[in-house]
Amino acid sequence: MQYGRILVVEDEPNVSELVALYLSREGFEVRVVEDGEMALEEFATWHPDLIVLDLLLPRIDGWEVCRRIRARSHTPIIMLTARTDDLDRILGLEMGADDYVSKPFNPRELVARVRAVLRRSKGASSTGSQAVIRLPELEIDRERRSVHVAGQEVRLTPKEFDLLWLLASNPGRAFNRQELLEHVWGFDFFGNDRTIDVHVKRLRRKLEPQDHPYRYIHTVWGVGYRFEAVPAEDDD
Ligand code: CA
Repeated sequence: MQYGRILVVEDEPNVSELVALYLSREGFEVRVVEDGEMALEEFATWHPDLIVLDLLLPRIDGWEVCRRIRARSHTPIIMLTARTDDLDRILGLEMGADDYVSKPFNPRELVARVRAVLRRSKGASSTGSQAVIRLPELEIDRERRSVHVAGQEVRLTPKEFDLLWLLASNPGRAFNRQELLEHVWGFDFFGNDRTIDVHVKRLRRKLEPQDHPYRYIHTVWGVGYRFEAVPAEDDD
């Protein structure tokens, strides 16, 4: 089973349906939008892990969508180019696309590219493509492995830090406990859900003391946990 949300931006239904079918068969969660404006909206609210982006789109074209997403995010983008045009390809990669697939394409090839790009981007983020997360009352520095709450340094254990980084670098995304175990402790760790709950409890105590105005780690009932900075009154 794969995990990940894929946003498919494509105005030709026969192409997008095929792509969505193949990707969801692989276990990805897929959403399809048909123009550039909807792509930007969906990107901002749904937080996909990867975007499959056609170039020729109504309203806002694929180049512009790519440029605007790159201005604020490292989310991987695979471009669908209509021609086997080297210029399209080079421009796309210069705009920050991670890979491209020329139409017509074999959906299996696209699935393979999606997997490869996701694998690469996970590797890149673990060597620090984003180094510091800054919120009004919380700062997390990946290089220094330091955490400040309202300007005061808070000491975390290595696992607490890794868990916090994973959640905070994917705001709005719900992780189940198994995913968290696999990401933070590794596949061969014989832990259980209780391990995660204990660590989350400790993190909350350190990051969200009684009088602190923000709440960060939210329980998603029946699933696991999700990171978001919201006022503390708005409890789960
Ligand atoms: Ca198109």
